[in-house]
Amino acid sequence: MAPGPAGGEPALFTDLFAEQVRRTPDAIAVMWGEHRRTYAELNAEANRLAHRLVSLGAGPERLVAIGIRSAHLVVAALATLKAGAAYLPLDLSHPPQRLEHMLTDARPMLLLTTGDDQHAVPAADLPRVLLDDPDAYAGQPDTDVTDADRLAPLRPTNVAYVIYTSGSTGSPKGVVIEHRQLGTYLRHVVRSYPGVRGRALLHSSFAFDLTVTAFYAPLMTGGCVHIGALEEMGTPAAGPAGQQRPTFVKVTPSHIPLLTALPAQASPTGELMAGGELLLGETVDAWRRRHPGARVVNEYGPTETTVGCSTVVIEPDQPVPPGPLPIGQPMPDVRYHVLDDELRPVRPGEIGELHIAGGQLARGYLHRPGLTAERFLPDPFGPPGSRMYRSGDRVRPTEDGEYEFCGRVDNQAKIRGYRIELGEIEAALLRRPEVRHAAAVIRTDTPEVKQLVAYVAPGEGARIDAQQLRKDLAETLPDYMVPSAVVSLPALPLTVNRKLDTAALPAPEVAATPGGRAPADELQALLCELFATYTAVSSIGVDDDFFVRGGTSLGAAQLVNEARRRGLTLSLRDVLENRTVARLAEVCADTDRGDE
Ligand code: AMP
Repeated sequence: MAPGPAGGEPALFTDLFAEQVRRTPDAIAVMWGEHRRTYAELNAEANRLAHRLVSLGAGPERLVAIGIRSAHLVVAALATLKAGAAYLPLDLSHPPQRLEHMLTDARPMLLLTTGDDQHAVPAADLPRVLLDDPDAYAGQPDTDVTDADRLAPLRPTNVAYVIYTSGSTGSPKGVVIEHRQLGTYLRHVVRSYPGVRGRALLHSSFAFDLTVTAFYAPLMTGGCVHIGALEEMGTPAAGPAGQQRPTFVKVTPSHIPLLTALPAQASPTGELMAGGELLLGETVDAWRRRHPGARVVNEYGPTETTVGCSTVVIEPDQPVPPGPLPIGQPMPDVRYHVLDDELRPVRPGEIGELHIAGGQLARGYLHRPGLTAERFLPDPFGPPGSRMYRSGDRVRPTEDGEYEFCGRVDNQAKIRGYRIELGEIEAALLRRPEVRHAAAVIRTDTPEVKQLVAYVAPGEGARIDAQQLRKDLAETLPDYMVPSAVVSLPALPLTVNRKLDTAALPAPEVAATPGGRAPADELQALLCELFATYTAVSSIGVDDDFFVRGGTSLGAAQLVNEARRRGLTLSLRDVLENRTVARLAEVCADTDRGDE
């Protein structure tokens, strides 16, 4: 990895954290369940591990993979950065084949994991440190690691992390973010959102850059990172820490209906930041009706420009119009150019492709100079040598300097907040010898329910087993990229220009269990109707499992809201634990009797 050119250099996160430790050594820096660590304790532990990592050869421009599901990941990430190295976060819920691809592509020198988690990482020969092994870094000094200890001095132009995102040509690609870009983003966050100085909930996978905000910003300001599952907040499983409302929560807009349905302890009192996909005024309002008083922030930005690069802040008493919310104005160190096909700026009111310039642009894609050159272009409007990222997003600049999101120029899509390249799914289908033609599309046959559907046509004389194909895809793709239905057609419909005729693709008919029991009473019938609305199946038997039939936890939250509106007493936990209509009907009947 060659370092990028030097530029305006914000302070290194590692230095800012060290200063914070000196300011508030006894404040709680991280908590999970029953556990908590002060700044001094967290720092000492991260220092010991960092010294160990240096002794193993970790340092600037070297990558350390982190495959950890528990709170140990905070120490792992801090220690890696302190050693001067960069981390590669692995999402252990991804299929082993995909993790293996990432590891082969990124070539980390070391793996940080735990005794249990190491089995989910397919890298038998990668040297590893187990963070739950008491001897792993005991005896190391707990003093701050400095350039005098590091294998080379740590500079803002060195890599901080590499995060993989879906790749249109068939395999995921690693986005390389340097310390200076991370620092530029964080500088804006800590100035703008006071909630991060309180308790920020870290609830989603560290392998997506959404979590960068709630992970780093509290640790620079004396705040606390609270690690826990959204669904557990307010329940005994969340421990003492989860019984109070956090001050800052970041989610994707797809998560907001879930927050609205969950106990208040999952929702913030300070700022709710939504990022990663289009945010609707209706979604914000539904949440604010239950939780007035918090600010809502709509943050826009690709992973390639470090988490977020423009925002709109909605004050608690500020009305929001229904429909898509604007993506706001670029942050202080970011510049937007909305350009036509000839790279000329469009006028306000016209739509063009957003090109992003300034201090948050990634170094590029790991080991992919061609792809990097394709997406990171010379910036004709900036100083010599500066670059701009071609985002693929269609936006409309307004007369008053805001920007509206108008979709994509390509086949990148979002489902449940996850970024996917439909081309990557198609490539996985076309790798099968029996498949001649494949298309993956996002459908919304039921309002508000986005469904990923694949269409395949067989080669000459071949036969396709669509169910099997779907199962096989799950071996290589993360669950959010596995189509909820695979439809086999003799040939895919084409337009006169011989392009895929998306409008002519039939809606998938996902069959319920053949011969499933029909609803026995009105309550079961209503639940069947709700299941049908929030799953991929139009006819539901009372023994059909909500999740097996294509339902998601977000769909379950929406189902709970709708059920409540129609007079049923039902919680999200009820749906997660009793996944069929028959069992849920019993729960509803019991609660109703209990209420009498
Ligand atoms: P990711 O790299 O996963 O953060 O995905 C980046 C893409 O998500 C952007 O290029 C947009 O297409 C979309 N996106 C992110 N934030 C927003 C937002 N606030 N509103 C609309 N689309 C968004």
